[in-house]
Amino acid sequence: MQRTRVTPVRSCRVCGAEDWHTFLELGRVPLANSFVTDESVPEQIFPLALMSCRSCRLMSLTHVVDEHDLYEHYFYVSSPSRLIHWHMEGLAAHYRSRLDLGPDSLVVEIGSNNGDQLSKFREFGCAVLGIDPARNITAQARARGIDTVTDFFTAEVAKRVRAGHGRADLMMARHVIAHIDDLHDVVAGVRELLAPDGLFVLEVPYLVELINRRAFDTVYHEHLSYFLVSTLQRLFERFGMRVVDVAEFDVHGGSIVVTIAHADSRHRVNPETVDARVRAEEEAGLFRDEAYDGFADIVDRLRASLRSSLLDLREEGLRLAGYGASAKGVTLLTTSQVPPGSLEFCSDTTPEKQGTLVPGLGIPVISPEEAREREPDVYVLLAWNYRDEILAKEADFLARGGRFFIPIPEPQLVGGERAAISSAARS
Ligand SMILES: [Zn+2]
Repeated sequence: MQRTRVTPVRSCRVCGAEDWHTFLELGRVPLANSFVTDESVPEQIFPLALMSCRSCRLMSLTHVVDEHDLYEHYFYVSSPSRLIHWHMEGLAAHYRSRLDLGPDSLVVEIGSNNGDQLSKFREFGCAVLGIDPARNITAQARARGIDTVTDFFTAEVAKRVRAGHGRADLMMARHVIAHIDDLHDVVAGVRELLAPDGLFVLEVPYLVELINRRAFDTVYHEHLSYFLVSTLQRLFERFGMRVVDVAEFDVHGGSIVVTIAHADSRHRVNPETVDARVRAEEEAGLFRDEAYDGFADIVDRLRASLRSSLLDLREEGLRLAGYGASAKGVTLLTTSQVPPGSLEFCSDTTPEKQGTLVPGLGIPVISPEEAREREPDVYVLLAWNYRDEILAKEADFLARGGRFFIPIPEPQLVGGERAAISSAARS
């Protein structure tokens, strides 16, 4: 087995400063996507802690774990969630009309996964090109006719793509740049490949929402960076580009879609979204250490309360299982020190995850079909960001008296009672 390298972060990957405020220690935990099949292989654990750059307020992990290998065979296949598909369709329609995209246009996506987002642009007749390092998933994209380069996006790759395909009218990177350590190289690549009046669309989890929703489980080793709009402004200004628009979406626990253009392009900054956001970040105190210390206190209390609530349910003799073997679930359970035997299994729709064990906890991952045969009393909703969708989908389980434990923003039990009341009403 290859040795994984861990490097402490010294200078800020956005502004270069070395003045950090470390505020949250989540302990030493395994990699959230290292689902294993062999229990006898000793699991590696790594420090997971957060710090804030006092100069640009990038929130970063204190250590970078080299997971280069991980991305070449990646587990995360773009979500089958309907909500996400509507979101992708909405983005495609918006930028199509904004840039008047058609058969002469080229759309390039960084981290294109199985090609779901690009397929929406292909419906408009646009030429599309995906760039993604995962061999297993880019094979799926190509099988459905989405031209895809299997590689990490770098300035070097951008040059090659530009030479072969010309410049891109629209570039997208959805939930990708938080994973990348060398941000400057990526932004240099975007500047290289983006047409003079093109737009770059960046979607990231929004740090403000992460704090507001107490979504500390979004923090795992793959997510190196967490952004404010002001921090992204700083990053792109260094490269002669600027943020021209920002929109918030209720996907992946609260995300922002940031539109970026060359500074000398025809695109003007929308003060109602960009300036307003930056002002709100300042007013929320996010340029001061105290805001982060306050968040750390909340997270520490929440972790303690998650652990005690789950132990209480076990004390009552209830059978618990996890719903959705998500990476965030791994953070949630391991950093809250939930005892390994607390959950009987985790159900998950991803075939590659079924038959594996949850990192750090050894909980078996099984298919939803198998889970139906072994139905627990309470499902711990590890994919709480799809809460409404999942509760609607599992209406039968709830009607049978099953319950969901929602961990975030605070522990809450849903169901059971309602079913009990309705059966009492019937009798
Ligand atoms: Zn910085």
